[in-house]
Amino acid sequence: MRSVDVVIVGAGLAAAAAAKRLVDAGVETVILERTELPRHKICSGILSPRGHRFLLENFGPLPREALHDPTWCRGVTFHFPSMVSMPMDFFGGSTPHLHRKYSDYWAIQRSGAEVHDRTSFVGLKDKGDHVLVQTRQNGEPVTYRARQVIGADGPSSHVVRAIYPDYPKQIPWFFVGQKFHDIIDCPLSPDYFHFWFHPGLGHYTWSHARDGRQIVGVGFKRGDNFARKHEVVQKYLEDRHGVRLQPPADDHEGCGENFGPSLINRYVFGKGNVMVTGQAAGFLNMIGEGMSCALHSGAIAGEAVVEARRRNRPVQELYRRMIASEVRRTTDQWNPLKIAFDRPHEADFPAALMALSWTDRAKVLRDIWRFVVLYKEFKWGRQIASLALQRPIIGGYSMRRWL
Ligand SMILES: Cc1cc2nc3c(=O)[nH]c(=O)nc-3n(C[C@H](O)[C@H](O)[C@H](O)COP(=O)(O)OP(=O)(O)OC[C@H]3O[C@@H](n4cnc5c(N)ncnc54)[C@H](O)[C@@H]3O)c2cc1C
Repeated sequence: MRSVDVVIVGAGLAAAAAAKRLVDAGVETVILERTELPRHKICSGILSPRGHRFLLENFGPLPREALHDPTWCRGVTFHFPSMVSMPMDFFGGSTPHLHRKYSDYWAIQRSGAEVHDRTSFVGLKDKGDHVLVQTRQNGEPVTYRARQVIGADGPSSHVVRAIYPDYPKQIPWFFVGQKFHDIIDCPLSPDYFHFWFHPGLGHYTWSHARDGRQIVGVGFKRGDNFARKHEVVQKYLEDRHGVRLQPPADDHEGCGENFGPSLINRYVFGKGNVMVTGQAAGFLNMIGEGMSCALHSGAIAGEAVVEARRRNRPVQELYRRMIASEVRRTTDQWNPLKIAFDRPHEADFPAALMALSWTDRAKVLRDIWRFVVLYKEFKWGRQIASLALQRPIIGGYSMRRWL
């Protein structure tokens, strides 16, 4: 049995950031990844300015192979059913358009941690002073012994399932899928990520250019039909925006998403010697931007282990105290009072709104309201309102709602 200080499950960006902090502090770290690296990751790859800064400061300049074409993105354009469109540039300029297969592999390699790929996490036993981690490596059972485990295994986290088996039943699940089209004519600017606030199209509708093709993406509550939803969006883009595309290529893709925990402060941070971070913990920013909070939360998980050893304190206690800053940043993005009176996002929505005529402003606000009503069935409204009131009173969001 291999004994190691820390086992990290998953080889994404949260894992890379956690591993970087641990390796820099001299903590022996092994990353387990179920696929073979470099691995594919479904993602638009639009990095926020904060995520970009993190990568530069911690891993250095990105190599060319870690970028798609166009290599940069200027910002986001919101589109509304009333046909108002609002382009918004990121604060501080354009950011890289990441090719996740190579950017994640590059960050993992630069973390300096030992990586065991084709190794799937299966389960764990927390024995108090160490954790036994059960895996399957090339089909064979292999056990690791670690002082701490960090679950950085993304939205459908098996680490979360191992410690809270009922958790997946407690949250709504969404499906997001994208298809790739050759372009006949596309008036949507390739410099922006395009997002539709349109309740008739779905919970999450997007499009952008990548490597000479156009992506058309749809997100909806799990159980609906991907092909039908996609067809509706493609037709809408053609009818209303003049986007003429070839039929989708064969390489379409989709996955389940745990969209929701960050809106209502229902994060999962683990228990005992097992920590959960990145999207597995529930971190997701506005319009599904999850890379920056994966990086930052992962780094905090790594720092918490280092601090716990230095001070001889329980790691959960420190992790929960330290992660509160990232919770504030992420949940602020969904807080209506913060959105109205502060600037929780990295592009200036209030300024773009004020640049519109009075009539268009009214149309946009009405369209946003109609879009938000689509989410009514999840009963998040009252929880978001109460969190918005709690924020100025306690200066953050209550830790009591975290698992
Ligand atoms: C369609 C789509 C578009 C998106 N677009 C953007 C965007 O433009 N910008 C943005 O910032 N975010 C975007 N996101 C979100 C972003 O991709 C995630 O939030 C981010 O990748 C989370 O990082 P992570 O490190 O927490 O997890 P992941 O990147 O999901 O990494 C988890 C890793 O764990 C591995 N793993 C899983 N289970 C096991 C197991 N049992 N054993 C071992 N390894 C395991 C996986 O193979 C994977 O390598 C998008 C997501 C989707 C689905």
